[in-house]
Amino acid sequence: MKEMNVLVINCGSSSLKFQLINSVSEEVIAKGLCERIGIDGSQMSYTPAGGEKRETVTPMPDHTQAIRLVLDALTGQEGGVVKSLAEIGAVGHRIVHGGENFATSTVITEDVLKAIEECNDLAPLHNPANLIGIRACRELMPDTPMVAVFDTAFHQTMPEEAYLYGLPYHYYEDYKVRRYGFHGTSHSYVSHRAAEMLGKEYEGLKAIVCHLGNGASVSAVKGGKCVDTSMGLTPLEGLIMGTRSGDLDPAIIEFLCNKENKTVKEILNVLNKESGVFGLSGGFSSDFRDLEKAYRAGDAFAIRAMKAFAYRVAKYIGAYTAAMNGVDVICFTAGIGENNPLIRTMIGEYLGYLGITIDEEANAKRGEETEISTPESTTKVLVVPTNEELAIARETVALV
Ligand code: AMP
Repeated sequence: MKEMNVLVINCGSSSLKFQLINSVSEEVIAKGLCERIGIDGSQMSYTPAGGEKRETVTPMPDHTQAIRLVLDALTGQEGGVVKSLAEIGAVGHRIVHGGENFATSTVITEDVLKAIEECNDLAPLHNPANLIGIRACRELMPDTPMVAVFDTAFHQTMPEEAYLYGLPYHYYEDYKVRRYGFHGTSHSYVSHRAAEMLGKEYEGLKAIVCHLGNGASVSAVKGGKCVDTSMGLTPLEGLIMGTRSGDLDPAIIEFLCNKENKTVKEILNVLNKESGVFGLSGGFSSDFRDLEKAYRAGDAFAIRAMKAFAYRVAKYIGAYTAAMNGVDVICFTAGIGENNPLIRTMIGEYLGYLGITIDEEANAKRGEETEISTPESTTKVLVVPTNEELAIARETVALV
């Protein structure tokens, strides 16, 4: 592997997360976050490896200015980690939606930018922001190669029966309405890592990855290829999430519009921002740290929300076991999957039919690579912390 420093950029509409990663040691040399870009009170946090976190409140009218500040921090006299921009060998950009245009990561060219733009319709909140981030970077680092890594790419191997909705077929032909799936970089990274942890061939493994964070999705990975995933055209489908509803009867939307005298847009906002465990807990919290505490204190709202969350995950595990005609390993990852033993136990209680027993001592660990099923379990259950930035850096180096 060629040694270089890779800047990984994850650009949202008003935020920008970054990490500078060395391609050989895979160490994070510096990382940080710009928030409230284009809004009053913009601020940046910056942490060089082994150094103190620094927070600066400074105007960032646009993403170009945010990236300029990031590059200044990385090359600065105080807290800087590289002497000049020439020491940044490549930039990897996380792109939310690649539609059917991208089944793999790709080096960014003008044509690639156009093809990403074509997918703006499919992710109107995310893709335009991702593009702004790329353009701003290209302006400031015109000679540095850049790579686009798509959240949807890993799922492009799904067969037609998994990605088609039961709609008139011409909606797929005319508008590309289909299941795409998200968190692909994480599902790919975690399923690869699971094969390594078990000492098995990736190409021979049937894995189910439960990426349980504020946004949450499950995927079925058979022989190294994604064959199904729970998020759909957008990240609203599938599991019950922090504030997103996940699956529901589509007729509920019109029903609620009539009852609440709201527009479709307003109800969709409820489904995205006021539903999930937040909605089920009566607006108590979308954060599983709060919910776990309340659950243990016997709070009926938290118990209801967590039970519904766990049940939905277990249902998807059952469905994906059927889709793959079996499963060798179930992986838990992301904020909740890595750090919440209670939810893992609650899901594990549904999995006896797979010959799974959870080892509660191993399961008590948080945030570490751990096998949490007992040695006798015929299907393995692993906790595998995800690392999307590292996965993006690896893809980037491989392509430049
Ligand atoms: P994510 O979107 O992956 O950052 O995950 C966010 C969710 O993970 C929230 O519900 C948090 O409560 C949960 N989470 C993150 N870190 C921890 C932790 N150290 N302990 C318990 N839960 C955590």
